[in-house]
Amino acid sequence: MSETSPKLRAELEGIPTYKPGKPAAAGGPVAYKLSSNENPYPPLPGVMETVAACAASFNRYPDMMCTGLMDELSERFAVPVTHLATGTGSVGVAQQLIQATSGPGDEVIYAWRSFEAYPIITQISGATSVQVPLTPGDVHDLDAMADAITERTRLIFVCNPNNPTGTVVRRAELERFLDRVPKHVLVVLDEAYREFIRDPEVPDGVELYRDRPNVCVLRTFSKAYGLAGLRVGFAIAHEPVAAALRKTAVPFGVSQIAQEAAIASLRAEDELIGRVGSLVCERNRVVEGLRGQGWTVPETQANFVWLRLGERTVAFAQACEQAGVVVRPFPGEGVRVTVGEAEANDIFLKVAEGFP
Ligand code: PMP
Repeated sequence: MSETSPKLRAELEGIPTYKPGKPAAAGGPVAYKLSSNENPYPPLPGVMETVAACAASFNRYPDMMCTGLMDELSERFAVPVTHLATGTGSVGVAQQLIQATSGPGDEVIYAWRSFEAYPIITQISGATSVQVPLTPGDVHDLDAMADAITERTRLIFVCNPNNPTGTVVRRAELERFLDRVPKHVLVVLDEAYREFIRDPEVPDGVELYRDRPNVCVLRTFSKAYGLAGLRVGFAIAHEPVAAALRKTAVPFGVSQIAQEAAIASLRAEDELIGRVGSLVCERNRVVEGLRGQGWTVPETQANFVWLRLGERTVAFAQACEQAGVVVRPFPGEGVRVTVGEAEANDIFLKVAEGFP
C-alpha cells in the first residue's frame, strides 16, 4: 500500500471476499442458476403488491426497530419480542453475533467444510477460526467440536443442515453436544434451510433455545420464503444475546420493503410451504436419480445436493454450464447444486449421467 493511502487494519489484507454464486449469463447458453441455493419460484403476487405499495415512502427511513416484523415473528414462534433481532440477511446477523462476542485472542469453532462466510466474518472480527473437519460421511463431528473448546472459545456455529453438504445433526447427538458446551460459550444453530428438513429426528433449534440461554437460532427469509434479494434474516436468542444483536445492528439495515415483504410472506406461509414441499419432492428425485447413476450422494435435508468430485470438480461445473445450468464448484472438493425447476434439474441429471 502506498505511503499516501489511508492506514487500514493490517489483518484485513489477508481476508478473502465472500464469493456469491455465479449468475446465469444473460443471453448466453446458460439458462438456469443453481449456484446460490435460491428459491426458483418468483415472489407471490400478494408479496409483490405489498412491495410495490412501499415505493411511495422511499423518501423515509425504514422502521429501525422492525416493529411489525418482530411482532409477527414473536407470534409465529411463540417467543417474546425481546428474544428477537433482525438483520441484513442471516449472514448480517451472524456477523453481528461475532462482533458482539469475539475479538482478537478469542476462538470461533465451526465444522469445515461449512458455510463459507464463517471464516470471513471470524477473520474480520480479529478472532481465530478453529475448523473441525466433517466426518468422512460429510457430517458435523460434534464430539470433536466439543473437544476443540478451550477457555478462549466464545462462539460455535452448528450449520444444520450443513452448507454445502446438506447433511444434518440429529436430536440426541445435538443435545449431548449442548450439554458438553460451557454455558458462557454461545452456540449458534444456523438453520437457514430449516423448512426443507423432512427427517423427524432433526430437532427444531427454537425448541432447543427455550431452556438454554447460550443457544441462538439463526433463520432467514432468503431460502424457503424466496426473498433472497431483499436481505432479511433474524435471530432467536435469550435477552442478553438478542439485546447485543440489536446494539451491533447496522442502523436501518433492513429496508421497509424487506420488512413488509417478510410480514406478507409469513402471512402467506401455507402457500410458500407448499412450494417448499414441491422442491423437497424434486430434491428426492434428483438424489435418487444420481444414486441410480452410481453417484455417492450424502443424505441432504436442504435445497441442494453435494457431489464429491475432487480434481474433477471444475470440469464437472464447466460441463454443467455448457449444458445450461450454473452450479457451484469448490475446486478440489466438489460441487453444490441447488434444486431448481424440474427442467433445470433434468439438465443437471443428464450432465451427471454422461460425465466420465
Ligand atoms: N447460513 C447459511 C448456512 C447459508 O447457506 C446462507 C446463505 N447462503 C446464509 C446463512 C445467509 O443467508 P442470508 O444472508 O441470505 O439470510
